[in-house]
Amino acid sequence: MSEDEKFDVIVIGAGPGGYVCAIRCSQLGLKTGLIEKNPRLGGTCLNVGCIPSKALLHSTEIYHELLHSADSHGIVAKGITHDLGKLMMKKDAVVDQLGKGVQALVKKKGVTIIPGSAKLLPEGGVKVTSAKSTKVYNAKDIILATGSKPVELPFLPFDGQKVVHSDHAIAFDKVPKKMVVIGGGAIGLELGCVWSRLGAEVNIVEFLPEICPHLDPDVAKVARRILEKQGLNFLLSTKVTEAENTKSGTRLLLEAAGESSELSADRVLVAVGRAPCADGLGLEDVGVQTDEKGRVLVDSLFLTNIPGVRAIGDLIPGPMLAHKAEEDGVACAEIITGQSGHVNYDLVPGVIYVDPEIANIGLSEAQAKEKGISVRTGSFPLAANGRALATGSTDGIVKVLADSETDRLVGVQIVARSGSELIASAVAHMEYGGSAEDLARTIHAHPTLSESLKEAALSVDGRGLHSL
Ligand code: FAD
Ligand code: NAD
Repeated sequence: MSEDEKFDVIVIGAGPGGYVCAIRCSQLGLKTGLIEKNPRLGGTCLNVGCIPSKALLHSTEIYHELLHSADSHGIVAKGITHDLGKLMMKKDAVVDQLGKGVQALVKKKGVTIIPGSAKLLPEGGVKVTSAKSTKVYNAKDIILATGSKPVELPFLPFDGQKVVHSDHAIAFDKVPKKMVVIGGGAIGLELGCVWSRLGAEVNIVEFLPEICPHLDPDVAKVARRILEKQGLNFLLSTKVTEAENTKSGTRLLLEAAGESSELSADRVLVAVGRAPCADGLGLEDVGVQTDEKGRVLVDSLFLTNIPGVRAIGDLIPGPMLAHKAEEDGVACAEIITGQSGHVNYDLVPGVIYVDPEIANIGLSEAQAKEKGISVRTGSFPLAANGRALATGSTDGIVKVLADSETDRLVGVQIVARSGSELIASAVAHMEYGGSAEDLARTIHAHPTLSESLKEAALSVDGRGLHSL
């Protein structure tokens, strides 16, 4: 085996988990190889996930705002229309630019990129197959970071046309007339909004009684009502039981409270979650243990049951989020080099990038109750915030949950424009063990939407200054 086939560490998969892990390994002085089968690095997040969806959300938000709010700002915007081809080109350009950036970054950090599909070998080492060659590489530590893939419903297989997953729904060549989204989670809401803003009639079928079960129902309801006003239709507590192909699309049979009904669509987006992706990785041959959902089981050091083989990101249990995968990657690299890498899984923020954005950190009331934590809550409507009024962003609410005994912050939920940015200060307060009182006494610039956080924290103690 030549020297260029031997590494200290090999990372398989160059998504946000894998490429960040490889960078950190290299920073820590390890000779690092990064295997990726896709021509562009960046994984799901960069190629078909976070980045393209956010580009589409932003473009369609501008369009929607011009169509529906220009007049209220005294702006005369006549004949506003859209060019879907250009909108997609803009999204593709963003992905392309970022992809080139990640490629250059990884190389500059001293990581060797190995193109091809990786398979673990029972005798040790990794076989990499590309169009050009098949080679075996070896390393003391191997990190699996092969991510996840969309879940398919057994009676509704993906065909990429009438029945699609998110990879397809970020690249439609025309706006669907009627779109049904199965699943009212992150993908369903974000991509449902994109196509609804562009003119599709969108029905979101969710089998739970409310969207966003990670939030308190009062906050989730505020978010849903706002999205309904924007044109989305929600069918809650509803199950799709059967599907039938028609000439122009798909007919779905629905069941809600014992009643059956039908719904037709030219496109059905199935967004009922993602499953770990270890296709072709050879986990069974090597004996890597997985759980019933196919997630690779790891201990607190990211070690699988096979010595020297670790796993991170969407492939292991935990929230399937890019920033969580990145933190796994950094901690894993640090642990390998004898440092005390650590991820605080209790404080992973989540954001759904609809307008207003839905952001959360920590526990909901129900989750706190399950853990035996009694909470006091305070909330503040965006409608009472001066900046929100000035910018036409009055839809939304901020809710703060604090431990009844210690006042320590337990959770924060935000439905607000720029909620993704607002949540950062709540994350910081909570990371440092802050209380509702700390948040309430922190000076927030005026006029900003962030004052809503301070006000919600004040109202935990019944001291809200700008709410009744
Ligand atoms: P991935 O990003 O899935 O990367 C895995 C990589 O491994 C891929 O590049 C794949 O090609 C490669 N690979 C797989 N098998 C092999 C093999 N055998 N050999 C070589 N290479 C292999 N998260 C957020 O935090 N914020 C968001 O806004 C957000 N938006 C999203 C929107 C959509 C539409 C989707 C689908 C997901 C979104 N996510 C978002 C989730 C986020 O994309 C994932 O949590 C994240 O990408 C997981 O990172 P990862 O590194 O674990 O895996
Ligand atoms: P999700 O878990 O966020 O939501 C799935 C929704 O589908 C849930 O509300 C669930 O109750 C519902 N559901 C499940 N089975 C159903 C069925 N048979 N009929 C009707 N409803 C059903 O999953 P997703 O939206 O597919 O996203 C996949 C992953 O990607 C998630 O882990 C998410 O965190 C990640 N993601 C994150 C972002 C973001 O951070 N902004 C954006 C997109 C995706």
